[in-house]
Amino acid sequence: MTGNAFQESEERQILRQEVAKLASTFGREYISKKIEAGEKTTELWEAIGKAGYLGVNLPEEYGGGGGGIGDVAAVCEELAAAGCPLLLMVVSPAICGSVIARFGSEEQKRKWLPGICDGSSTMAFAITEPDAGTNSHNITTTARRDGDEWVLKGQKIFISGVDEADNVLVVSRTEDAKTGKLKPCLFVVPTDSKGFSYTHIPMEFGAPELQFQVFIDDVRLPADALVGDEDAGLIQLFAGLNPERIMAASFSTGLGRFALERTVSYVKQREVFGAPIATHQAIAHPLAEVKIEIEMSRLMTQKAAALYDAGDDMGAGEAANMAKYAAAEAACHAADVAVQSHGGMGMTKEYAVANVLMAARVGRIAPVSREMVLNFVGMHSLGLPKSY
Ligand SMILES: Cc1cc2nc3c(=O)[nH]c(=O)nc-3n(C[C@H](O)[C@H](O)[C@H](O)COP(=O)(O)OP(=O)(O)OC[C@H]3O[C@@H](n4cnc5c(N)ncnc54)[C@H](O)[C@@H]3O)c2cc1C
Repeated sequence: MTGNAFQESEERQILRQEVAKLASTFGREYISKKIEAGEKTTELWEAIGKAGYLGVNLPEEYGGGGGGIGDVAAVCEELAAAGCPLLLMVVSPAICGSVIARFGSEEQKRKWLPGICDGSSTMAFAITEPDAGTNSHNITTTARRDGDEWVLKGQKIFISGVDEADNVLVVSRTEDAKTGKLKPCLFVVPTDSKGFSYTHIPMEFGAPELQFQVFIDDVRLPADALVGDEDAGLIQLFAGLNPERIMAASFSTGLGRFALERTVSYVKQREVFGAPIATHQAIAHPLAEVKIEIEMSRLMTQKAAALYDAGDDMGAGEAANMAKYAAAEAACHAADVAVQSHGGMGMTKEYAVANVLMAARVGRIAPVSREMVLNFVGMHSLGLPKSY
């Protein structure tokens, strides 16, 4: 999609408007009710899938919209801005969809992409392990060849949405590359495989998507469960991680916009000393700061998406890290200012801004922590020595 450097194409702007319109028919109240009831947001997921927004970044011949990561990021941002953030959008169409579309065989694309696009077959993504944590080079989930099959063994932690996924894209390593620098290989593992199990990790924030520890005990997989080339796994993994960061940035930007928009409307009508509280600079200035921070992180996200869509993986990597960092910081600030500007109402369920505090905080930790982004920028952008 083309536009000038500082304005999105007309097509993208229309996409945003249409997604915002659809999301408004659900609204924050829908999500809050689902969280209270411990239910999934299946109706919303299906609605965006049916409208073609879920797989808007994926190739048309497999049920997608033929657009780029910037398009699916716009969908993710508009949903979050409308109070309907969908965490699994970061994972299913953006990470898993991008990796399979770029590196999967023709058969694999036909098998998995249509379900990812229309929402009928969600794919979770599992890289994090309890003992490796941030240091992905230390992952120990191992794939062993046995005749025509693969046998997978390992453990994963904080895997979002396994309970609502049909498959999980699991990052592992082969037996011959068991130690040393990570040479990852990626497998699609059906969640109903024998030997695949998971336990729920209770979290302190309310979201319809749940987190799980995953146990992979000698899961047998057919040869075609391996996505792409077993020796080119790192490039393939990075093809998924840039979209992940761009989507995480859009998710955070959307959360920030949601908090800001609610607060602007509240401070205009709330009167305490005979005038709306918005007339006090102590209220107005923090909101103006948040607006600037959101616009800046949005711009960086659009740059990262444009570079990725133009095939510049290296340039996109730097921009995606920066965008993710900036957007998470902006969202955390937005949530804090929102709660403070609402006074006591900021802590109520009715005004729905307190929950953004925790949701925005996740953006500083996942999918990559702010410290690891700073390490990356220090080392790659500034040429400083490696610090870890
Ligand atoms: C809500 C949520 C959803 C998630 N969903 C998924 C998912 O779907 N799939 C998946 O695979 N993972 C998922 N994760 C995992 C997430 O990516 C990790 O939590 C994250 O990468 C951090 O790893 P860790 O929790 O092991 O922290 P640790 O590695 O234990 O790090 C703890 C702290 O130490 C800091 N630290 C560590 N090393 C360094 C260093 N060298 N320099 C500076 N600071 C350092 C970190 O930045 C962090 O602040 C999710 C996490 C959350 C919270």
